[in-house]
Amino acid sequence: MEGVNVVKRHNRPTRALPQGGIVEKEAPIHISNAMLFCGKCDNPTRVGKKILDDGEKVRICKKCGETI
Ligand SMILES: [Zn+2]
Repeated sequence: MEGVNVVKRHNRPTRALPQGGIVEKEAPIHISNAMLFCGKCDNPTRVGKKILDDGEKVRICKKCGETI
């Protein structure tokens, strides 16, 4: 299962989005570690931030490290 719904494809390929659907589900909480749904963990997860080589900021799952 390859995720095709990646945000930036000119960067390192990720298998971040196995089902490529539920990506931007923002939880109605405004703490810095808002819970998002990680498609890989199949669970809500804490979100970290990561900056790619081209300066793009992405959100990553803190459990598995995958791009959300
Ligand atoms: Zn995860």
